[in-house]
Amino acid sequence: MVRKIGILTSGGDAPGMNAAIRSVTRVALNNGLEVYGIHDGYKGLLEGNMVPMNRQSVSDILSRGGTILGSARLPSFREDAVQEECVRNLNDNKIDALVVIGGDGSYRGALALTQRGINCIGMPGTIDNDIPGTDFTIGFDTALHTCVECVDKLRDTSSSHHRCSIVEVMGNHCGDLALYTAISCGAEMVITPETGYDELEVLERLRYLDEAVHKKHAIVIVSEKTTDVQALSSKISQNTGFSGRATVLGHIQRGGTPTPSDRMIASKMGEKAVDLLLEGIGGHCVGIIDNEITSIPIQEALERPRKSRKKLYRLFERLF
Ligand code: ATP
Repeated sequence: MVRKIGILTSGGDAPGMNAAIRSVTRVALNNGLEVYGIHDGYKGLLEGNMVPMNRQSVSDILSRGGTILGSARLPSFREDAVQEECVRNLNDNKIDALVVIGGDGSYRGALALTQRGINCIGMPGTIDNDIPGTDFTIGFDTALHTCVECVDKLRDTSSSHHRCSIVEVMGNHCGDLALYTAISCGAEMVITPETGYDELEVLERLRYLDEAVHKKHAIVIVSEKTTDVQALSSKISQNTGFSGRATVLGHIQRGGTPTPSDRMIASKMGEKAVDLLLEGIGGHCVGIIDNEITSIPIQEALERPRKSRKKLYRLFERLF
């Protein structure tokens, strides 16, 4: 029977992680469990950097971005000896189970610990929305709001100067943040790992918008790691009637107060994570699929393809 659980945040931080920590802590305490907060992800687990959490430990954090527990990357956590040391630390502190909030790398760590006898539940925390086994991750909605707000502002100034704004957003090989931003902002083009990048096609479309549609501005949303936005911007200035301007939104997308939607999914997923541990289940990850909170084995989630966004790409083209 589970008596004491640990909670940690791992990988890149995301708004809503605090809401998740709060939910897990409060639901667990209300079920008579003891809760330990582990600082700096698996690094804190290795170093024994963990503190008991009470109700007040998670007061006033629901609306704060980032993670009060801190996050870190520990590449050596893939090694057997390091995992064994972490299990020893958990056993020494009588921690029976763990909730891990992070991305797919963190899930792999959670699976490894489960296989070593510590039941772990993964919760999807990243702005990239790149985790299989869930339609949406904690932090995605907040990052989307930030992107939309920034692009709306860029549109105002682009119109005044006959500019084409090329805006790079995050996503880590997943085009969701770019696609959702593009649809929400009425962008003229979106370039993601899913669409691929064809320079001639981009320039041709922009020339058409300038010469045939007489648009005052154009917005191109580019998913990070797809193409060099500075180079594209120069090409646009040289080959179309628009003056190209590249903007990389960068880490601003990771910050900010989480949206109500992120707070809601974080709270619901936290509840589910604790319920699973109370049932004696480990090696699962929680998610939201078709608006229902679900859980599936981590192994299965890692093998699943991400949800297809074909219909949304089609919608984007039909709105052009
Ligand atoms: P994000 O990509 O959103 O930042 P993530 O959880 O995928 O989140 P990673 O850096 O891939 O980020 O992983 C976080 C940590 O999880 C790693 O630093 C490492 O400690 C652990 N981890 C990653 N992959 C494995 C693995 N194969 N086995 C065990 N642990 C792993």
